[in-house]
Amino acid sequence: MSVSEFPSWLMPSFSSLVQRLCSGTLPHALLLTGQKGIGKQRFAEALMRAVCCEEPDKEGFACQQCRSCQLINAGSHPDVKSINPVETGKIISIDQIRALNQYVLLKAQLSGNKVAVISPAEKMNIASSNSLLKTLEEPPAHSLLILVTDRPAMLPATIRSRCQNITLSKPSVDVGTQWLKTYIDSPKDHLELLLALADGAPFEAIKLADNELLKHRDKMLSDLEGLIRGQNDPVSIAEAWLKVSMSDSLYWLQRWVEDLIRLKSSENLPDIKNSDVRERLQRVGLLWNLKSLFSFYDQLCETIRLCETSCNPQMLLEDLLIFWVNR
Ligand SMILES: [Zn+2]
Repeated sequence: MSVSEFPSWLMPSFSSLVQRLCSGTLPHALLLTGQKGIGKQRFAEALMRAVCCEEPDKEGFACQQCRSCQLINAGSHPDVKSINPVETGKIISIDQIRALNQYVLLKAQLSGNKVAVISPAEKMNIASSNSLLKTLEEPPAHSLLILVTDRPAMLPATIRSRCQNITLSKPSVDVGTQWLKTYIDSPKDHLELLLALADGAPFEAIKLADNELLKHRDKMLSDLEGLIRGQNDPVSIAEAWLKVSMSDSLYWLQRWVEDLIRLKSSENLPDIKNSDVRERLQRVGLLWNLKSLFSFYDQLCETIRLCETSCNPQMLLEDLLIFWVNR
């Protein structure tokens, strides 16, 4: 990765850490936080490569040529480790952290630095976190732990307080749209819509550019309108949404309801995320009062939380849609 490939909005934070790396004042543990989809993984990887590279360029990016860079590219660098849940959504186990604790104690085999990236860090359970504390309290020299999370509040305070917090920010709309243009061949207003739907996070916006996802969003709004008119029923709609994806369905539902709340809360034309369907949302909004919308939003947030446990998703969605009908 070079400066031209690196997300420009992350550059100030990257440069500041590179300076500390050069002056030998980089902390032993960093907690990399910020909204989902703004480039935390890319940032962590660039930093990990910079720390290991033998001849980084003047901006601090790895050279891609030296032995260390080649080993990283081949996935066989002995001083680099990534700790992730073995299965998506599962925890980072205490055994994984114990192995990490052992690993950082060993002397580095190449450039002298050992780096481990733990992501998503909030997937460590209490036992894993406690096990990591030992390393955070007495970090071996020439070791760097990078904890990546978009939910730092889920980490124990004992972990957070032993890491240097680096919060990454999202780009301005102009910078984000400009960056998206290099990946997605679409008119500017469509790119702005994608960025707004992704709450300003460019990497999320790229995912949303997937036509199937946008089609699901359109279908969902039609389903919600149909429910209001009594043309369909909550059970079959929940089934259909679930077939596409529970998490995508909840994501869009959350975006719709946030926009409905914005529309109901302001007499003027408020900025909304789903700006392409403002009039349809305004019509739906006429049938709700603000208090009920907030109650619906609370239940939606609770559903999102429960989805991370073993609750029955079909029933959770049905409950939400029944609320929608009875509002
Ligand atoms: Zn290199």
